Amino acid sequence: MSTSVRGSVSKGRVCDKHPDLFGIRYVSSSKCVGCQKEANAQWRIDNPDRVRALHKTWRDANPTKCREKVLRWLEAHPGMMASYSKARKARKRKAVPLWADKDKIHSLYILSKAYRNVGVDCEVDHIVPLKSSIVCGLHVEHNLQLLPRKINRYKSNIWCPNGI
Ligand SMILES: [Zn+2]
Repeated sequence: MSTSVRGSVSKGRVCDKHPDLFGIRYVSSSKCVGCQKEANAQWRIDNPDRVRALHKTWRDANPTKCREKVLRWLEAHPGMMASYSKARKARKRKAVPLWADKDKIHSLYILSKAYRNVGVDCEVDHIVPLKSSIVCGLHVEHNLQLLPRKINRYKSNIWCPNGI
């Protein structure tokens, strides 16, 4: 059994269930690391609502770490990135009202590409995100702006009523 251990550990009595851990025990509880991990896993299975609440608390307290974690995961799973990209394009198509000026929208994307071609790293951003937990914007010319890529990625789908 290979295991990564968080917290202070020491050597103690070798556990009957986990002899391969050679008696590694947590200092705080003196419990076998393997047994404690199994107990933790069982607790997570038995308390899905509390696990979700704990995850949400962590995400709310660590938005930057959370975003970095997601980006690392997406880089490691390029197929999923393509899937999310397709879903986003579908959402964008649904968010285009009949009155939207498609030529203006298209010209903004062309302008963004022209900037990138001369070395200015920018992207078209939806001022009000197409999908967020509190608001859903439209894919219309008035809801688009050019932003540096880094700022756009940082902004993500966060909506700031007063802009950024
Ligand atoms: Zn054990």
